[in-house]
Amino acid sequence: MNLVIDRDRLLSEIETLASFSDAEAPAVTRIVFTPTDLKARAWLKEHCEDAGLSVRQDAIGNTFARWSGSDPAASVVGTGSHIDAIPNAGRYDGIVGVLGGLEAMRALRQSGFRPKHSIELLVFTSEEPTRFGIGCLGSRLLSGTCSADAASKLTDRDGASLEQVRLAAGFAGELAAVKLATGYYKAFVELHIEQGPILERERIALGVVTHIAAPASFRVSIEGSGGHAGGVLMADRKDALCAAAELILAIENAALTSGAIDTVATVGMCEIFPGAVNSIPSRVHLSVDIRDTDLQRRDAVMQKMETVCRAISDKRQVSIHTELLNADPPVDSAPEVIDALTQSCRKHSVSFLPMVSRAYHDSLFIARIAPVAMLFIPCRHGYSHRPDEFASTEDIARGALVLAQTLATLSA
Ligand SMILES: [Zn+2]
Repeated sequence: MNLVIDRDRLLSEIETLASFSDAEAPAVTRIVFTPTDLKARAWLKEHCEDAGLSVRQDAIGNTFARWSGSDPAASVVGTGSHIDAIPNAGRYDGIVGVLGGLEAMRALRQSGFRPKHSIELLVFTSEEPTRFGIGCLGSRLLSGTCSADAASKLTDRDGASLEQVRLAAGFAGELAAVKLATGYYKAFVELHIEQGPILERERIALGVVTHIAAPASFRVSIEGSGGHAGGVLMADRKDALCAAAELILAIENAALTSGAIDTVATVGMCEIFPGAVNSIPSRVHLSVDIRDTDLQRRDAVMQKMETVCRAISDKRQVSIHTELLNADPPVDSAPEVIDALTQSCRKHSVSFLPMVSRAYHDSLFIARIAPVAMLFIPCRHGYSHRPDEFASTEDIARGALVLAQTLATLSA
């Protein structure tokens, strides 16, 4: 099998897709179900059809472009990613998995390969949480992680419901019908930029993802007592920000001492009330994000945080309330998909590194209904979600080549 990736076509398609944007180049902004997103979808659908694939869209707009195998009833081998982009993002996040996946399928067709299992390119709706406040909307519905009922109640910043927005965008049908049957997929592989610096630093061509970390996020409210910065003596204070400071350091320490480098914890937001130079902080809101590749270890950090909250609350006479916003379990990649990826790397003499995905992706949710693994390509300085995000055409083409080989192995 002679697999040829057309780099020029891949590069020109990446450039064209980046032109569907609500931000000035080189920045890309493409929010789900905006006119710009719909134009990009139409363009992509046409390219899939030109490649000989048959396209269907579900009620949430997940798009499947299918190359039927010789056994159309057999389980499907899937690949794909997302094309939505957060405000002021770059042109590679998600895109390389979609256009790289399409190019891989074209290369397979041109090589004369004929799959037994159908191969499908899947473009997920709303991987980014920008519009509806929840990431991976399409894959959550496909995997049954989010119910149709819960999804239909989501609203955007303008108060429009997901139901209204998707119907206006032309996606009809029952949201409940989006969920795929377990066994639909034989395997699923997502090609993606690393969004971290390791491959570039180590000069390794590709990353084979063995674990996908998942975040648990909390909103923490600390209620103390305010007052005049001059009038209230130190012994009488219930300073909510001092309590927050102790808590932030304790959360950092819980992650640092978990025993594994894969544990990370971040307090990324801190709102202080009333926020005046001469006023004791009476109330503080914190956001907490704890991630790990191991569920037990992540839960242990969460429990430590709860214990520390009680101790600080007693000691400082403040009330601390924690609200769990989400806690998706991390996943391990499927050994058979990892094997197919590593064998493909070896076959094409491409260096690879088994690695952890520290960001989460649609694959985290598809892993609940299918054997999944991911393939990472290097990106410059590990930058992502910013306009200077960059992956070289050579690296993307290499990823598409290994992906094509992997899809061939899995679908034979
Ligand atoms: Zn992405």
